[in-house]
Amino acid sequence: MRPLNAQIRLDNLRHNYQALKNIHGGKLLAVVKANAYGHGAVRCAHALADSADGFAVACLAEAVELRENGIDHPIVLLEGVFDAKEYATVEQYGLWPAVCSQWQLEALVRHPWQKPVKVWLKMDSGMHRTGFFPHDYAAAYTALKQSGLVADIVKFSHFASADDPESGMTDMQIEAFDAACAGLEGEESLCNSAALMNCPEARRDWGRVGIALYGVNPFGGTHPDLKPVMRLSTRVFGERVLQPHSPVGYGAIFYTQKSTRVGLLACGYADGYPRNATTGAPVAIGTHRTRVIGRVSMDMMTIELDPSHEGIGNEVELWGDIVNVNETAKAAGTIAYELLCNVKRAKFTYYE
Ligand SMILES: *Cc1c(COP(=O)(O)O)cnc(C)c1O
Repeated sequence: MRPLNAQIRLDNLRHNYQALKNIHGGKLLAVVKANAYGHGAVRCAHALADSADGFAVACLAEAVELRENGIDHPIVLLEGVFDAKEYATVEQYGLWPAVCSQWQLEALVRHPWQKPVKVWLKMDSGMHRTGFFPHDYAAAYTALKQSGLVADIVKFSHFASADDPESGMTDMQIEAFDAACAGLEGEESLCNSAALMNCPEARRDWGRVGIALYGVNPFGGTHPDLKPVMRLSTRVFGERVLQPHSPVGYGAIFYTQKSTRVGLLACGYADGYPRNATTGAPVAIGTHRTRVIGRVSMDMMTIELDPSHEGIGNEVELWGDIVNVNETAKAAGTIAYELLCNVKRAKFTYYE
């Protein structure tokens, strides 16, 4: 069998949830959208079932998958519905929809709710992607309240630059949020992972934690309180010694400088390994860190091997414990979120 393996350490997931909850205080949603950032939403939700206060997903289908697999916790639809008809399913499954725009609000108050629904009302406090502008927020809040169809309203907003404290953007957004919420009662939610870890003023009734839950430090590098959940590994299934001045792979972008032992790996960009990570991206054999050389192909990639004792059959960590996924992301000019979400064709194995 092709030896590409994604090990998912659910014990680490639970550890991270607890560590983050201790920092945030209050209640904490585990964000399991996009198949739990590529880790497997149902398995991750089950692993957190005893501890999590609730879950958050991007769309109805993701929420229904959790419900149909026995998750009966609160589930927030972070983007709300995409179509007025979806409110029937929201009601059937007892979900908490976000209301992010005027048409979602109007469709919600037209739906014949059997019993009042809990709503997360989104404010655009400065990211300018979605949500009600601060000057429209109280009117939206009041319209929901006066409809008589809404049980509770959680006031929430999302940060554009929480991973960049220097920017001042987060403080500005908090100020806008607090000003526009003045006099509106109810719970609040502001933190994503980065704000939770770095911005005490943003910790409110509910946190919403994604990337850090999977053990990734949103500020780059590693973090002493977070344990990587995914470990992606493969094996060397070919090796050769190339003479100096030999090109390697598509486009001949890499030439050996000396006699070089080259290992061939079963993993490529069709598996989600980033094609932009070329020569220099780190991988590890045991605790020995080595590097990708040449272009990543669709199904294969090449690395430099230790001249003496590495070759066919050696296990290679692409990211996990020795190589942090943030390093791979940096080498590829992207973020760990994208790499984790993209993993496919690998054999997923879950460890309790
Ligand atoms: C994805 C998402 C989160 C989680 O963000 P992380 O940076 O992964 O912690 C929180 N809130 C909203 C609205 C989101 O869409």
